[in-house]
Amino acid sequence: MMNAACIFCKIAARQAPAHILYQDDLVTAFRDIHPVAPTHLLIIPNRHIESVNFVTPEDEPTLGRLFRVARHLAEQEGIAASGYRIIVNTNANGGQTVFHLHMHVIGGQRMRYPMG
Ligand code: 5GP
Ligand code: ZN
Repeated sequence: MMNAACIFCKIAARQAPAHILYQDDLVTAFRDIHPVAPTHLLIIPNRHIESVNFVTPEDEPTLGRLFRVARHLAEQEGIAASGYRIIVNTNANGGQTVFHLHMHVIGGQRMRYPMG
């Protein structure tokens, strides 16, 4: 379940500090340590899934939960109406730097598409 070398596993297990906004049996949400916009949240599966490349059918309830929590937190952060962007980076070309699947929820400013 938990990868001892993984910082996001440690955050989900509350063995590493983070500003946690939400946690349940499947997912954990916290503020990105280097925000790129006024609101920058990360929502992760509690289970160590390395990336989208490792998603299995058993993960479907967890992946659905990521979106439901994104909706909830976007409302809580006051960015639901103004809008936000959800990003899931995969491997080198996607710009993934932490190899525990995570959904970025970014808002509070106008963004151009694509970024980077
Ligand atoms: P990626 O580039 O893999 O899609 O995004 C990784 C994100 O995790 C980056 O935005 C980075 O700022 C954030 N991050 C990396 N390490 C930590 C950490 O220890 N705590 C928090 N809160 N965010 C982190
Ligand atoms: Zn992990």
